[in-house]
Amino acid sequence: MRTLFDHVSRDAADGVFPVCDVPSRKADDVLGAGLVRAQAPRIPNLSEGDVARHYTQLSKLNYGVDDGIYPLGSCTMKYNPKLNEDVARLPGFANVHPRADEALVQGSLGLLYDLSQLLRGISGLAAVTLQPVAGAHGELAGMFLFKRYFEERGETGRTRVLLPDSAHGTNPASAAVAGFSVTEIRSNDRGTVDLDALRTELDSTVAGIMLTVPNTLGIFEESILEVTRAVHDAGGLCYFDGANLNSFVGRARPGDMGADIFHFNLHKTLSTPHGGGGPGAGAVAVSRPLVEYLPVPWIEKTGSGYRLDWDHPKSIGSVHAFYGNFLVAVRAYAYLLQLGDSGLRAVSENAVLNANYLQERLKTTYPLPYDRLCKHEFVLSGEGLPNGVSTLDVAKRLIDYGVHPPTVYFPLIVHEALMIEPTETEGRESLDRFAEIMEAIAKEAREHPELLHDAPVNAPVRRLDQTHAARHPVLSYPFDKGESAAA
Ligand SMILES: *Cc1c(COP(=O)(O)O)cnc(C)c1O
Repeated sequence: MRTLFDHVSRDAADGVFPVCDVPSRKADDVLGAGLVRAQAPRIPNLSEGDVARHYTQLSKLNYGVDDGIYPLGSCTMKYNPKLNEDVARLPGFANVHPRADEALVQGSLGLLYDLSQLLRGISGLAAVTLQPVAGAHGELAGMFLFKRYFEERGETGRTRVLLPDSAHGTNPASAAVAGFSVTEIRSNDRGTVDLDALRTELDSTVAGIMLTVPNTLGIFEESILEVTRAVHDAGGLCYFDGANLNSFVGRARPGDMGADIFHFNLHKTLSTPHGGGGPGAGAVAVSRPLVEYLPVPWIEKTGSGYRLDWDHPKSIGSVHAFYGNFLVAVRAYAYLLQLGDSGLRAVSENAVLNANYLQERLKTTYPLPYDRLCKHEFVLSGEGLPNGVSTLDVAKRLIDYGVHPPTVYFPLIVHEALMIEPTETEGRESLDRFAEIMEAIAKEAREHPELLHDAPVNAPVRRLDQTHAARHPVLSYPFDKGESAAA
């Protein structure tokens, strides 16, 4: 009997599709018998429709910056322009192979080169590497640079890194992972580095300081020149954590403040979606004496184009395969070109304006321990809320109102901390709505505290046992639960 598809198979037989010329080999021969499964893996057997519904439903349980305000302090969850995504998806960028011949990827190398020049300008420093793939990774690379610098100078007794108690948590971790010991410097009652406490610690065992700029209270170190001068006078180096660059991008340059190393969080300040841990990019800028230690390869501009230069014998080596997270760099570049000088200055201006607007309104409802002009974020305290209501309760109740909670219980120097960063991409209505919700929650704490103790009630899950989740994560499909799980 003839079927509708007879002509298709006939065409195929006639050679429309080439005959497979790859010799068929048994899996045993290719992989070795020990690596070949005896039984097929037990994976759920589902139709395409079932899978589409599953993932669509999952996506609706999620909350992102495209749903509403996401005031997660220290994370700069700003709106990410869709143009960045279009540019990152151009096939010439998205499909480029990391091992492609240099001659075939001149455009991509040129983009990386231009981006590092732009970042050099923003930082006011001598050179930039784009290799690290997260802020914390940039910090680690920076600590390796500290190490190499002192090794080269024969000053191997410099084993301590100073860290203000207002530093981001990744800073002491990075210093410790690189093999330094960490000395904490207390903040004064204005929330900035206590200069006397700093000076007491400075000696020939100090490799340098790591400063979060502005610090995790959202406060700019007004004595920053004195801080960096004191560290330099003692022979140390100054590392600036620049993840909070949103508050001064285009307006001030870390290089002018005495930074020797400055890391950018490209995914934060220069807008790549970065919930859930990545991908990110932690570009690192350095002052002139540190340039020769930067990771290889460097991207060099020659008379005829761009090339990768591995010939830097004093380099700390590579800190990541290939050139880091290339498509995050593409997004950052697109963002910088969209905004230009004046656009970048508007980013920091509006980020700071929005934070101060919210701070001034909310400080009448929640205590503001460091009550002064803030930069891009500020830290309220949930201490003293009535009826045993805690900061955690406020955060969970925000979820019921359809708002992502701020960062809580960080920084540690504020009890019951609520760290709020609205970012520049929220409009007046959005800020007002958030403030009204925070005020409504404070009222509930007085009048109906059970609403806060029980929250969230509208979310797909209630309160999770966070300790259990962290200690016993379930990271794979639960086959052990028997056939019903796989059905
Ligand atoms: C986010 C952040 C970091 C860490 O950046 P990751 O990309 O998450 O590793 C470091 N410091 C500060 C101040 C930050 O806000």
